[in-house]
Amino acid sequence: MNTSHDRLVVVGAGLAGLRAAETARLAGFTGSITLVGAEELPPYDRPPLSESVLAVGVKTTVQTFRTVEQLSRKLGVEFLGGRQATALQFARRTLELDERESLCYDRQIIATRAHHDRFEGSDASGVTTLRTAADAYIVREALDRRARVVVIGAGLIGSEVASAARARGMSVVLLDVQPLPLVRAVGLEAGRICAALQRQAGTDLRVGVEVEALESHRGHVAAVALRGGTTLAADLVVVDRGAQPATRWLIDSGIMLHPNDGGIVCGPDLRTSVPDVLCMR
Ligand SMILES: Cc1cc2nc3c(=O)[nH]c(=O)nc-3n(C[C@H](O)[C@H](O)[C@H](O)COP(=O)(O)OP(=O)(O)OC[C@H]3O[C@@H](n4cnc5c(N)ncnc54)[C@H](O)[C@@H]3O)c2cc1C
Repeated sequence: MNTSHDRLVVVGAGLAGLRAAETARLAGFTGSITLVGAEELPPYDRPPLSESVLAVGVKTTVQTFRTVEQLSRKLGVEFLGGRQATALQFARRTLELDERESLCYDRQIIATRAHHDRFEGSDASGVTTLRTAADAYIVREALDRRARVVVIGAGLIGSEVASAARARGMSVVLLDVQPLPLVRAVGLEAGRICAALQRQAGTDLRVGVEVEALESHRGHVAAVALRGGTTLAADLVVVDRGAQPATRWLIDSGIMLHPNDGGIVCGPDLRTSVPDVLCMR
């Protein structure tokens, strides 16, 4: 039962988090809603990050679905951006943010989805994933100054970065440990077509190769070393090696996580193993 005293906290300000907050209001929830997001921006659409934001010759700015003001005025949702949820204590119904701020809730929805794997052991600048608006601006800026680009992982996002580099006439190396780009998603036949399209476009596609290490010089990435001895010079390395559920912050929370991948275990009604905490799939 909803009461006006209920505090709903939604963790993860992506599309799923936004829809959870909107749906709660549509369903008649009259309590307070707080939407917590690790990024400064309120929810926005991610596909343009690897498409229009990287397009040559235009400086597209990421558009949010709603402004902070619209969230507040139209939905009565308080947006707390730039806050990372770091722990959940269900017995006290408390959420910790950045290990220094805490937020009480009566009901909580987790919509933190996934974090993309960075390359272990490299804190050098010039190495990035492409998941957030901030990442996309870093990649675009490097492409615009014609950085030497190596992309690790020929999935959807990696392939789009390679295309964006080729659209500028730049050389780009696209690496994958698999025998074909996108093969796990689209299969052998379509993977072969993707490989042919990349090569026709001028991408230096190298498949079945493994990255051994990233080399840096004065804190900036300088090269990608492959197993077997090849070294590729690089000013920008974009890593697209897949994603893991963003649930590390829940490890001691009492919420049951799947032993294989750390995903949240929930029933068909989206309830987790602790009371009043739901998750978005
Ligand atoms: C570059 C790019 C291109 C894509 N292109 C396509 C496409 O063409 N077609 C397609 O179908 N899909 C595409 N996707 C995937 C699609 O965007 C996702 O399926 C969608 O973003 C999922 O929405 P979500 O809200 O569940 O998760 P997310 O958008 O990942 O949102 C989760 C939010 O939670 C935040 N968060 C995580 N941990 C915490 C924490 N501890 N505390 C606070 N906040 C936290 C994250 O910062 C993030 O903002 C693309 C994704 C990317 C990155």
